[in-house]
Amino acid sequence: NIRVRFAPSPTGPLHIGGVRTALFNYLFAKKHGGAFILRIEDTDQNRYVEGAEDYIVKALDWCGMTFEESPEKGGQYGPYRQSERKHLYKAYADELVASGRAYYAFDTSEALGAERKNHEAEGKTFIYNWHNREKGRLVNSLVLSEDETQVKLDAGEDYVIRFKSPQDETLQLKDIIRGDISIDTNILDDKVLFKSDGMPTYHLANIVDDHLMEITHVIRGEEWLPSLALHQQLYDAFGWQAPEFAHLPLILKPTGKGKLSKRDGDKLGFPVFPLEWKDPKTGDIARGYKEDGYFSGAVVNFLAFLGWNPGTEQELFSMEELINAFDLNRVNKAGARFDPDKTKWFNHQYMQQQLDLELAKAFQPILNQKLNVIASRTKQSVSNDEIATSRENGVTRNDSAIDINYVSLVVELIKERATFVSDFWDLSHFFFEAPSTYDEKAFKKAIKEDTLDLLSTVKNLISEVDDFTVEALQTKIKGWITDNGIGFGKVMMPLRIALVGALQGPDVFDIMYLIGKAEALKRLDALLA
Ligand code: GLU
Repeated sequence: NIRVRFAPSPTGPLHIGGVRTALFNYLFAKKHGGAFILRIEDTDQNRYVEGAEDYIVKALDWCGMTFEESPEKGGQYGPYRQSERKHLYKAYADELVASGRAYYAFDTSEALGAERKNHEAEGKTFIYNWHNREKGRLVNSLVLSEDETQVKLDAGEDYVIRFKSPQDETLQLKDIIRGDISIDTNILDDKVLFKSDGMPTYHLANIVDDHLMEITHVIRGEEWLPSLALHQQLYDAFGWQAPEFAHLPLILKPTGKGKLSKRDGDKLGFPVFPLEWKDPKTGDIARGYKEDGYFSGAVVNFLAFLGWNPGTEQELFSMEELINAFDLNRVNKAGARFDPDKTKWFNHQYMQQQLDLELAKAFQPILNQKLNVIASRTKQSVSNDEIATSRENGVTRNDSAIDINYVSLVVELIKERATFVSDFWDLSHFFFEAPSTYDEKAFKKAIKEDTLDLLSTVKNLISEVDDFTVEALQTKIKGWITDNGIGFGKVMMPLRIALVGALQGPDVFDIMYLIGKAEALKRLDALLA
């Protein structure tokens, strides 16, 4: 039975790299009918940040990932916060001391700093391992007698428990993505497993919990690959079966050089967090994909492609489809370049798949705000009668009267040119208000001497269309254009200027149909006046 965990430390908001790690765990679990578990790794109290755990849960929830077991949900392997499992870890550290695989060390940070300096002066790097742990100035239970060690412990001296890494051995490690890796133990230092504040370090707590929680696969970021040697040794030292490991490739800057950071996002204007984050200390706001107007499905889709591909041409995937297609064996070793333009492309594609009514609902708050501004701007100059008449035409200046079905129809016409819902207003304002000015360049281009005569004929033709449909309008106006051998542009461009104010927007007949006959005629009058 497959069990994977996402094990973030609540040290701040989860960046998209973390969300990608969670996603790959989730997809792998779901694909194999396994369990996806959230474990909060909060043993380092100095780095604890208020609100970070809550943020992590909310962010993953927004992305559509749900846990089988978590601090909130509970489960039979709980508790799921390491701070609540604190009492468990010391016994495991003691076990390793008893079996000779770990030892107490009493070196102060000053002493370690001095040692580092001494080495540097000689052009060497200081590694706390067999090179020097039993000689020189280091103070640990490998050089002290058992009694001496006990005296220090009884006196309450600060200590750490270090793992005793072996000399002159070659470790054979396995990674699903990277294959076989061999490591010379002489480059490993004796990592701290436990501290005198009663807290385990990440390494010990992580291994103990993965074991107790019966985790079968550890899927995590490449930055943890250097810890794999220690982790494998810990499993061996305890006599436990290690889970399988998969270290996901780095996410690289848009230039492809170096790791993606928050600063890259600030510089190039894209978020690196799923949700907005307000720093509890500084009050600074970091942008989020959600607040920037991305669909969570689009975010999940582009994250899935950071380091993985399905091996086919298909790029658009729902979560269900990702689950079916996902395969750890198709995850790359090489870093994945982050492309902010591609994230927009995904969002655009997702938008096309949404229901117009849903998009209209998302647009409505923006629309109401814009229309309120217009209403207050025109309050003096527009009489109540005029507002009432324009509302009858489907063009309304009163937010409470705006018809969501009308907005849906507008959205249907414009969404193919939008990336975000926030683009809608610029693409569609002429469906809600008559142009107040005309684009100068477009006007010069489209309105020629004979244009006004043509337009007034068009106006008459429009007023003759009783069955006001797109087809009827087309037949009438296009028919007249063809019959009289007039250039299409000569008529359609000025007509568009009258309706839109510029040479933009969807099909002119669609626009006329939606704004209605009276409003269309009014706009022609306004230009002809
Ligand atoms: N707490 C570690 C982190 O913040 C977990 C690493 C792991 O998955 O082993 O990423």
